Amino acid sequence: MSSVQHITRTGQFLARVSSVESLSPRMRRITLASPEIATQNWSLASDIAVVLAGEDGREVRRRYTVRSVDGDRLVLDAVLHGHGPGSSWAAMIAAGDTVSFFGPRGGIPVADAAWLLALTDESGLPAIAALAQALGDRQLRVLAEIQDRDEVYPLPANASVSWLPRGDQPAGSTAVLEAALDSVEPGPGTGYAYLLGESRAVVALRESLTRFGLSRSDVYAKGYWNLNSRPAR
Ligand SMILES: Cc1cc2nc3c(=O)[nH]c(=O)nc-3n(C[C@H](O)[C@H](O)[C@H](O)COP(=O)(O)OP(=O)(O)OC[C@H]3O[C@@H](n4cnc5c(N)ncnc54)[C@H](O)[C@@H]3O)c2cc1C
Repeated sequence: MSSVQHITRTGQFLARVSSVESLSPRMRRITLASPEIATQNWSLASDIAVVLAGEDGREVRRRYTVRSVDGDRLVLDAVLHGHGPGSSWAAMIAAGDTVSFFGPRGGIPVADAAWLLALTDESGLPAIAALAQALGDRQLRVLAEIQDRDEVYPLPANASVSWLPRGDQPAGSTAVLEAALDSVEPGPGTGYAYLLGESRAVVALRESLTRFGLSRSDVYAKGYWNLNSRPAR
């Protein structure tokens, strides 16, 4: 067997911010425009790594899901969680600004299972929205942890959502989603789950999904951010 690894190279592009819109107090929709966006192959819920300046001025990259692409435009939805260069960038950005990014990267699979479940916090909502849209008429049961009711996010109608405000609890714990699992009634036949959010919470919640007969291969689990990550470089 060959030990050669094939690394998918992504391009670096410059785009202009064509619009910025507040979806909620903590979620901003950013539309980027560049002729090169139209020439790339954007997989379902692929992401871009936006190039930013860290606190010490050194370059950092932060990943954001491509919610949708239309010709030379792509749409991102960024959480304003209040810390870090990504959140600050999303809070300050304005139409006409320039953005440098690498992409496309990654993507999530459409599972061929009888029932589908998604667990996420705000950071995974753009990916879950893109997934639900790609599923067409297939139903997707969603448990979505949000800060409060103001953070309800637009999901397609085939997503049956329980919005779960965390209130005074800190983001990145498992408590809210774990408790909500009691409300899940798995359908007949095979199931598949999507699990997006804080990295250690995702690992813990993946174990909890075994109660529905879901093994590791029946779960797409991805840590989207790290609780108490060291100050960004
Ligand atoms: C494939 C992929 C796709 C992603 N898609 C999206 C997306 O579409 N929209 C989006 O908003 N995010 C998305 N994320 C998550 C985003 O990249 C992280 O939240 C990132 O850490 C934000 O960088 P920052 O500079 O704001 O914070 P950082 O510098 O990374 O962290 C600063 C502090 O903020 C905390 N923090 C970081 N993110 C969050 C959060 N979401 N909620 C609460 N506290 C947080 C950290 O624990 C740390 O204490 C995605 C991540 C991946 C891997």
